[in-house]
Amino acid sequence: MDASPATPLPCPFEKKFPSQLIRDDTFFMSLAYNQAIDAWRRDEVPIGCVIERDGELIASAHNTVEGAHDPTAHAEMLALTQAAAHLGDWRLSEATVYVTKEPCPMCSGAMLMSRVKRVCYAVPDPKMGCLGGATNLNDLPRVNHHLELTAGGVLEPECRELLQAFFRLKRSEAEQ
Ligand code: ZN
Repeated sequence: MDASPATPLPCPFEKKFPSQLIRDDTFFMSLAYNQAIDAWRRDEVPIGCVIERDGELIASAHNTVEGAHDPTAHAEMLALTQAAAHLGDWRLSEATVYVTKEPCPMCSGAMLMSRVKRVCYAVPDPKMGCLGGATNLNDLPRVNHHLELTAGGVLEPECRELLQAFFRLKRSEAEQ
């Protein structure tokens, strides 16, 4: 099932080693960024996600769509499942999700369904982003739960450069 390469692929970007003492948005986004680098090394689109609750990390995942042959294996979906399993509760109402790119329709929907407290994303996505970029599921008129949003700004240049560099590489490989 696992089609990911046996030896990790080289990634031109370095992981971050943030201080454990300051657990702010930049700290948790750095961990999501590191997950994205792990995705790159497995030849997956470099998107990473972590989930925090009470200052603790309760889930971390990266996109595995290619390796798992699973269109739903987005970083956020995998992290939401991990977090719910960790808590023994599907309601993630005290949790904050950190993800390197704005969530797609599926993942934004799953965040609403799991009643996540806050979503912090690095790179807005005007094409598929459903928390402000292309549209905002938070604005569904009859939905009671609303996600607090930190939309862009946290490690945004780093996370954008990682994605753009990956797609540049893929395009150049395709041209060869
Ligand atoms: Zn998604």
